[in-house]
Order: sequence, then structure tokens, then C-alpha cells
Amino acid sequence: MRFPFALSAKIAAHIIKHKLRRTPKFAMVLQLEPLHTCNLTCTGCGRIREYSTSLKDMVPLDQCLAAANDCDAPMVSICGGEPLIYPQIEELVNGLLQQGRIVYICTNGMFMRKKMVDYLAASYSPALEPTLKDLLDQGLISSKQAETIRQGKRDGRPVIRPTQWMYWNVHVDGLEYTHDLIVEREGVFKECVEAIKMAKRLGFQVATNTTVYRETDVREIEDMFRFFSWLGVDGHTISPGYDYDAAKKDMMKRLGKRPEDFFLTRKMTVEKFSRILDWGKAFTIFGTPVYQEFLAGKRELTCTAWAIPTYNVKGWKAPCYLMTDGHYPTYREMLEKVDWEKYGVVNGVARDPRCENCMVHCGYDPSGALGTNYQRGDHWKNFKYNFWPRPPRYERGHEIQAFNGASIGKGHLAEAKAALKATACGTPHPNGVESPHAGSFCGSGDTSEREALLAKVQTAKQT
Ligand code: SF4
Ligand code: SF4
Repeated sequence: MRFPFALSAKIAAHIIKHKLRRTPKFAMVLQLEPLHTCNLTCTGCGRIREYSTSLKDMVPLDQCLAAANDCDAPMVSICGGEPLIYPQIEELVNGLLQQGRIVYICTNGMFMRKKMVDYLAASYSPALEPTLKDLLDQGLISSKQAETIRQGKRDGRPVIRPTQWMYWNVHVDGLEYTHDLIVEREGVFKECVEAIKMAKRLGFQVATNTTVYRETDVREIEDMFRFFSWLGVDGHTISPGYDYDAAKKDMMKRLGKRPEDFFLTRKMTVEKFSRILDWGKAFTIFGTPVYQEFLAGKRELTCTAWAIPTYNVKGWKAPCYLMTDGHYPTYREMLEKVDWEKYGVVNGVARDPRCENCMVHCGYDPSGALGTNYQRGDHWKNFKYNFWPRPPRYERGHEIQAFNGASIGKGHLAEAKAALKATACGTPHPNGVESPHAGSFCGSGDTSEREALLAKVQTAKQT
């Protein structure tokens, strides 16, 4: 089966239950943001910018668990910020699993191996030695970490264990060169790959999570799918990048760029996703075939943002993951008080100008599952997609040039920073925040650096 039977059955039962009860609006996936702090500063990330004044705030654990109960979504995507920075992430994951939910940990991958070392330490017995040897041979753990694992874990805290009810959902926006460029730090792609390899060896389920931008080369995305399929990744989420409020403002103010130079319009989204139905056949793409048809421009859907609500330090964010017109204390209150008819695009006309170019999964993927804009055969199509055999692993992944950046000596960020240092360094960073990138506030994503980096990507691709 494309997805584990228990998971597909749980989601199907949730939809059928609400259809029978004629519930007008209900949650399918909770986007839970326990914090907005992150160790990266990706270009185009609205979160760390919109919530820049509350980066130190966190949703208490009991409130996170109560939010899941409040909306009762069968799936919870723990995002942020970087959720592995949340001090009680283990308790949160285990609490959600105890509630019977399917959990996705949306991570940039940088702390995954550390969490898996914790898991191994908590599970250690001599029977684990062959696994440790394998991980050491593959360079996925260090000798020091192996020793830590052998000493066991004694702090009494839970760990994140492999289960069919949980996925690591790793943010990867391309192969090495491109991904490191977008996350504005070298080495991140390589770390993601190592973390994915380790997770698969330990029996975790792993998905990747990709945003497609205007400059994304879809042939590279296909190669990326092939590469991760070869590594045994269990599924892929892919969504068009959208010029949501916070990222748009940041792009204009901080980077001095026009959002239309970076994000996709509807027309461009359809062009980029013209082959998504083929991708759905060749790879385990998450999302319904109905949503895939929408992305490929073959049909219209109506936004159902209420089905993927977002909860964070300020409450229930309305109307959607991308735009903020208010926060509400309960999911029910948000459902009742928001005028949902004001949002989305209907018959090609944007009800709100900010929705005009939006085709993102958190607005439209549930529409495909819930049967809004139903066309004959849709339910069968969705059923078949979920319950049919999984596409086979791509066997020639070793031929993909995945490591086309820093790890083969093309240190694009370092080169660009060095070139820019002479002119850009010494000038305070425009938002007054020192970049986390080593040594200086260069590398903060200012326009000149970004363009230099993009030029280097183009040159690298041609050579
Ligand atoms: S990893 Fe990047 S996209 Fe994700 S929260 Fe951090 S800065 Fe934003
Ligand atoms: S179309 Fe829906 S998901 Fe997209 S920005 Fe508008 S309200 Fe949000």
C-alpha cells in the first residue's frame, strides 16, 4: 500500500464520521507551532519574521496537547520554528501519540541525529551492538556518541521512538547546492541526508517536505525525489511557495526585492506542477490526486483552510497558515467568528486579493479529500491512490548528483560571503539582528548576496 493501512483507515474514518454527522467544518491536520525559534534563517520563511517579537515564547506542553484535543484532527504536524528545539518535544510527541494521533515532526533535520542517539541510549542493550557498528561504519554516529549510547539514558525522560504513527518530515527544497542556498547555510543538505539514512536504518518513517519557488528547477526536484526514493524515504509533501504576508513584507523591506521575483503566481504554479500526476505515479507523493490535478491546472478547488488550522503562541491563527487576520482562543470560536466566505479563489476570482496566487496544500489539499468541488469518480480516485501499492523504490539513485555543493568543494556560501565581505561587512544588518552564520552578519540573506549566490548556482549547473 502507498501509505500504512492503519493511517489511511484512520483518516478515512474521521472524514466518514463527520460526513455522517453533517459537520460543516472540521479539522483534518493541526499545524502545531509550539515555538517559532529556529536555528536557521531560510529565505522566504515567514514564520521567523512574522513572530520575530515572540521568538522566545513557547506554548506550554499541556496547552499543546489541549489544542490537539480542541480541534480533534487525526493528524498533527508539529512545526515552528524548529520543533526539535522545543524543550519538551519528546513529551509532546508521546502525548499526541497517546491521544491516538498521527504525528509529523516537521524539521530542518539538524538535530534529528541527536534525538536518535537519545533513542538508542534509552534502548541500549548488547543486542544493539551490530546496529551501532553499522552506524559507526556508515559515519552516522561518532565513537563518542556510541559510548554515550552504551552508557544508557538515565534522566527518566521519554524519547522519540519509531512507530508507524509517526513521521520525521524533513524540509528539503532541492539537492545540496540549492537547498543550502535556500536555507542560507552550507552543510544542511548533507546533515539531512545523514539523518534520513540513520532514521531509515533505525526503522523510523521519513517523509520530505519541499516548497517550490519561482527559481526552482523542477527537473532537480524530480532528481531529488529519485534520490530520496533510493534512500528509502516513505513519502514526499510538495507545495508551491506563496507570497504570504510576512514573507512578502520581509522580502520588500529586508531584501529590497519584489515578491513576484521569488514566489509563484498561479499561472507559474501550474507550469511548475504540470508533471505532478506523473510524480504521483512514480513517487509516494502525499496529498490527494484531486489536489494534484488542481496544481496541474486541470480543475478548480475551493479553499478549505479551516481543515488545516494552525495553533501557536498567540492562539488559533485565522484564516490560515499563511495569512493572519486574527488569533482566537479556541478552534470553535475561530470557526464561528471568521467569515470564511471572504477567502479563497472561486471560479478564478480572488475573494481576497491576498489569496490570488495561493494554491498551497494547507488551503487546498483538504478540499481534495473532503469532496468540495466534487466530480464524479473523485472518491474512487482518492481511495485508489491511498490503498494501491506504493511505487517501487528508484534503484539508480546512486547516479544522481545529489552532492553538488559544499561537499564536493563548491563552497558557494563561503565564496559568496568572502566576495561580499569587502563591501557588505561593517554595515549593520538592516533588521538589527546579527546573523547566526559564523563570524559576521554577512550571510543574512541580503539582496546582493542572494543574487551572487544564485549566479553561482547557475554557473555551477552549466559546468
Ligand atoms: S527551518 Fe527554515 S523554513 Fe523552517 S522554521 Fe526554520 S527558518 Fe523557517
Ligand atoms: S486561499 Fe486559503 S490558504 Fe490560501 S491564502 Fe487564502 S485563505 Fe489562506
